[in-house]
Amino acid sequence: MHGTKGKIRPNLEDYERYCRRFTWSEAERELSGLPFGRGLNIAHEAVDRHLENGRSDQTAFRFLRKDGAVEDLSYKELSKRTNKFANVLQELGIGRGDRVFALTGRIPELYLTALGTLKHRSVFCPLFSAFGPEPIRMRAEIGEAKVIVTTESLYRKKVAKIVHDLPSVRAVLLVNENGEKTDIPGTIDLRDALDAAASGYEIGQTDPEDPALLHFTSGTTGRPKGAVHVHKAVVAHHITGKLVLDLHSEDIFWCTADPGWVTGTSYGIISPLTNGVTSIVDEAEFDAERWYRTLQNEEVSVWYSAPTAIRMLMKAGDDVVGNFDLSKLRLLASVGEPLNPEAVIWSEKVFGIPFRDNWWQTETGGIMIANFASMIVKPGSMGRPVPGIEAAIVREAPEGGIEEVVEPGEQGELALRPDFPSIFRAYLNEHERYAKCFADGFYLTGDLATKDEDGYFWFVGRKDDVIKTAGHLIGPFEVESVLMEHPAVAEAGVIGKPDPVAMEIVKAFVSLKTGFEADESLRRDLLGHARKRLGPAVAPKEIEFTPSLPKTRSGKIMRRLLKARELGLPEGDISTLEK
Ligand code: AMP
Repeated sequence: MHGTKGKIRPNLEDYERYCRRFTWSEAERELSGLPFGRGLNIAHEAVDRHLENGRSDQTAFRFLRKDGAVEDLSYKELSKRTNKFANVLQELGIGRGDRVFALTGRIPELYLTALGTLKHRSVFCPLFSAFGPEPIRMRAEIGEAKVIVTTESLYRKKVAKIVHDLPSVRAVLLVNENGEKTDIPGTIDLRDALDAAASGYEIGQTDPEDPALLHFTSGTTGRPKGAVHVHKAVVAHHITGKLVLDLHSEDIFWCTADPGWVTGTSYGIISPLTNGVTSIVDEAEFDAERWYRTLQNEEVSVWYSAPTAIRMLMKAGDDVVGNFDLSKLRLLASVGEPLNPEAVIWSEKVFGIPFRDNWWQTETGGIMIANFASMIVKPGSMGRPVPGIEAAIVREAPEGGIEEVVEPGEQGELALRPDFPSIFRAYLNEHERYAKCFADGFYLTGDLATKDEDGYFWFVGRKDDVIKTAGHLIGPFEVESVLMEHPAVAEAGVIGKPDPVAMEIVKAFVSLKTGFEADESLRRDLLGHARKRLGPAVAPKEIEFTPSLPKTRSGKIMRRLLKARELGLPEGDISTLEK
């Protein structure tokens, strides 16, 4: 399946040739670096660099507010306002490397926070606004948050409950959603602070290896992991935007991901800006009509979305699409979960072009494997490695260590040579967990995949028990821990149950302490408890009571077995099952 529309020549025309010639140092030369050799700073490359190259008055972001209002921010204005944010941090005495957390919807202040923080050389850490108080508290504690930027209503609903348990926090900056002033004791009105701040700011010396971004991700066990990325990652953000999303300066780009997750930061903020395009930011949640109208009215040319959203559009029916003129769309890209072949075929039918799947993860910071605009799409495949990325399928070697699988079609773990700029540099304060991700010169992704004879990679599944729901990774341990807080719960085991739209939903198996009745009212109580503590994005959608949970002899809950039983599949190796 081929297909891009229009006459624009793809930035990457000849894949093999481009790969042969590509070097990361050459890619870095597309950026300018800070003036007078003061290093490399993401925010300078994303914003200030464009003040010198004729893009100053171009719209950087067009914010579509929930109430229908539209707010445009030019590169020049964005530069000024992010300077102001950096000055606010300066005034507050926040230092280089200190972590600034953001918990907001997709409002302009979130983007100012991200880029102003990077200018200040503090570390930007976005949190998903649908998190409940517990995931927020846990991440802010691990990340030793110095500043929290949030809205007044999120503060009242969530942050106020936990902020006193976070001794590292020095300032809480609030935005009132209705444009009014906030006067909650112990907090600062962000808009007031921005108004009062100076609009000039000189970015200090930034080492390309200085930490810039902290993104939390989930593992099977233990607390969430804070993946640390450095300023140098901007080289990968930039070049993948150019080569995979095929961004040209005249493009109107829409990345539907929320900046609470890595895609919404790397490709919802940084990459479109370094590539000098105009980005659409929609504050509202998914709605098929609204999305098609946005694509039409904003004349979106490049659209980056995710399989759950695409499946929801497919569900809304083809008739809806017919009501809109989507002729400006020339490239569709998808990430986050496996993209079903049917979705690729459907997009060919309704948009005249295929959705192009690409693969990456929080730890890689940027796109690693992709279906490039000039490439034939094999529906169901993630595509081929980005130039400069060496990907392989590996397995355990008989003599110890790992070895590459060379036979096409043979399954193994997807691994990458970690010599690219956006690879994470640490899991914050967890060296052992970090070191475990690397072996014999490879970064091990935790995904199972195959590679075919044409060099295309195909996703098979996760190696671990992490759950993917609506594109978000959920650690079962985090959910189990909150369920266990409930006085009725003796044990909990949490799995991902297949779902036609969200890919998986969070399902919990719960055994009760004696004296508690497994009835509907307790189930509702537990669901309510989990939603209140974890938020709707993380809480289980289903709870099943069970007299006991299958465990290994060492006492670990066998989630794999719970899942096999749920799906009616063979139970596999149960030699370690507790009798
Ligand atoms: P996250 O770190 O939250 O971005 O999640 C990364 C994980 O999402 C990967 O390790 C994969 O398991 C999954 N994933 C991301 N993109 C794709 C894709 N195109 N196809 C299949 N799985 C994907």
